[in-house]
Amino acid sequence: MTMNMDTRSDLKKLSYVQLLASIMGKAGDHVDTARSSGLPLLLLFGAFHGSFMFLPATFAWALQFGLLTDKDFIEWKSWSGTSDVWLFTFGTVGTIYATLLVSSTIFLVIRSATPFRKYVIQQHTESDTLSWELKAGLLVKLFTGTLKSFVLYHLLPDMFNIKLPSGSRFLLQFAIAWFSFETLFYWWHRMEHLPWFYARIHKYHHQVTNPTGLHVVQQTVWSDLFLFVFRFLTFKFIVPLTAGPVHVLVFWLWGVVMIYDGVQTHGGLYLPWLPQATRKLFGGALRHEYHHAHNKGVYGWNLTFWDAVMGTDKDYREFESHFFSKRAAKL
Ligand SMILES: [Zn+2]
Ligand SMILES: [Zn+2]
Repeated sequence: MTMNMDTRSDLKKLSYVQLLASIMGKAGDHVDTARSSGLPLLLLFGAFHGSFMFLPATFAWALQFGLLTDKDFIEWKSWSGTSDVWLFTFGTVGTIYATLLVSSTIFLVIRSATPFRKYVIQQHTESDTLSWELKAGLLVKLFTGTLKSFVLYHLLPDMFNIKLPSGSRFLLQFAIAWFSFETLFYWWHRMEHLPWFYARIHKYHHQVTNPTGLHVVQQTVWSDLFLFVFRFLTFKFIVPLTAGPVHVLVFWLWGVVMIYDGVQTHGGLYLPWLPQATRKLFGGALRHEYHHAHNKGVYGWNLTFWDAVMGTDKDYREFESHFFSKRAAKL
């Protein structure tokens, strides 16, 4: 019975995904013209991926060169005709959800398109399907996310009636928030792997061994609570006390970049376009997919420094060099 249901849902998923993939590129295993036909799709996806990867730099550049000003923001805010509290609530949950759904769908389609099959990390097993708990959880999280954003508005300092930062000030704020997140996440995640916590909090996330983007939110309520506390501590105290008041656009941009990072580290694709040096600093999908497939070390979100300092990436590094030497011949 279970097998039949799984097979039906697999077929349904495949048919939707392959339909989309065939619109964007040559989908399926039967087409052998990937190398010649894949370039437009590679460029398109590269532009999409790059626009998120370089979003903080683009934002800093726009601030620095006056392409985004306080006047623009005030005009947009009055055009929206929405009060600060609802703009914050729906802006926060809306930007994160839109990024999650759009980028997860794109990753799902892309990994099925033939030009990208060679970049799929676990090529010999199908990606995990989305369980009904996860689908129901997505709806529940939409409501709890809205509620959390509403509460955060009342807990955080005013983010609307302040000046936009300069480009360099924004980069400082972003770097502090990122460092704080990597630090708190590493230790939280490491704690989640202690047997008592693992059984109660984290096992649900590790039911997935070949993840897709949406599996980033296959988390228990404790992870949501962690993220809530993190945002409260970081944007109430850590960033304002070290780098000045945080503008709402900076807060939203932070949420978008972090959820995209979560989607791409669960997206199942190893993209070899970045030079080796950046791979040493930014873990990316290969690292987190190893964590799901082997459940051994590498607890960081995306940056690698905590695992390097604490020596929790030894097994991964062995796997990585083996993976690169095997894949180098193919790519
Ligand atoms: Zn884990
Ligand atoms: Zn994960």
